[in-house]
Amino acid sequence: MQPASRADAFAALELDPDALPQEIKRAFRRLAMQWHPDRNRGEDAAERFRQIKAAHDYLVRGDDEADPAPAAEAEPAPARGPDQEETLWLEIEEAIFGGVLALELERAEACGVCGGSGRVTLASSRMCACCGGSGRIRAEGGLVRCDLCGGRGYSAEVACDSCAGSGEARAGRKLRVTVPAGMWPGRRLRLAGKAAPVGDLPPGDLLLVSQLRLHGLFALRGDALEVTVPVPLFDLLAGGTVSVPVPGGGVEVLSVAAGTATETRQVLAGHGLPLRSGGRGDLTVVLQPALPERLGKSDLAALRVLQESLAGREARLYPALADWRARWLDSSPARRRGKSRKKG
Ligand SMILES: [Zn+2]
Ligand SMILES: [Zn+2]
Repeated sequence: MQPASRADAFAALELDPDALPQEIKRAFRRLAMQWHPDRNRGEDAAERFRQIKAAHDYLVRGDDEADPAPAAEAEPAPARGPDQEETLWLEIEEAIFGGVLALELERAEACGVCGGSGRVTLASSRMCACCGGSGRIRAEGGLVRCDLCGGRGYSAEVACDSCAGSGEARAGRKLRVTVPAGMWPGRRLRLAGKAAPVGDLPPGDLLLVSQLRLHGLFALRGDALEVTVPVPLFDLLAGGTVSVPVPGGGVEVLSVAAGTATETRQVLAGHGLPLRSGGRGDLTVVLQPALPERLGKSDLAALRVLQESLAGREARLYPALADWRARWLDSSPARRRGKSRKKG
């Protein structure tokens, strides 16, 4: 039953071999609607539906390490509805520590009344509601033929009331999901038999793919988690300790070496996102110097004392500044040329 190769599976879904996961999903939904034995009375419908489902499951399970593809089964699996894949949006803390979530899934399904066609056929013809029996409707360029009745003015086919002719119904479902700890981004959670039912078949599995919501404090940088901590400039200069919030509400203390006046990065191992290999990755801590905004008189007096104590030692304290001055203020030949031109 399982396709011989990925290429066969893509072909069964009428897709190019480079189709994206969402295209696989879409193609499967479309073909499943078309060939499902409940909807399609054709002789080969059941067989075709099984092929489509096997191809879909093969492609979807191929990269699903949480639940590897089962070996070829001795007996064909009992027919059941298609699997359903949805994004599971998680807060960073939920992804790390797990929890119980109330999910609301909504998806477009074929309208149950018209079977997805958007039209229903009545037992007898009646006057066309669209053109009022004239067979024509007013359009921009004048009168044109009425599409609904084909210009006959009467029809046994009318737009489906239930879906207003769209052919689609929105089905909402509420689910409680127990999310295990360690949901790295992209990890799949398989809930057996929880897919939206199609026809009378037992429902397939619901596959929830973890994605992380934006967080007010923690940012994602590739696979790593990052937190930016503002630290008063003088604390960085004098050295000391910095309190760093970590996911889950705890605080870790980092020490900063004296003299660090620029933005620096440190790593808190084991406080990052869950890893595929188990455990947790690093939390990158960005220590961002914060400048004082309102200094009082006594602060300024203290600063002046510091200023005097540092005066005359620029070459050692600020090597880059000393270079800059040497080049642009004091001894630059270009600078001197500029000056002499002005004189002359
Ligand atoms: Zn309908
Ligand atoms: Zn009409």
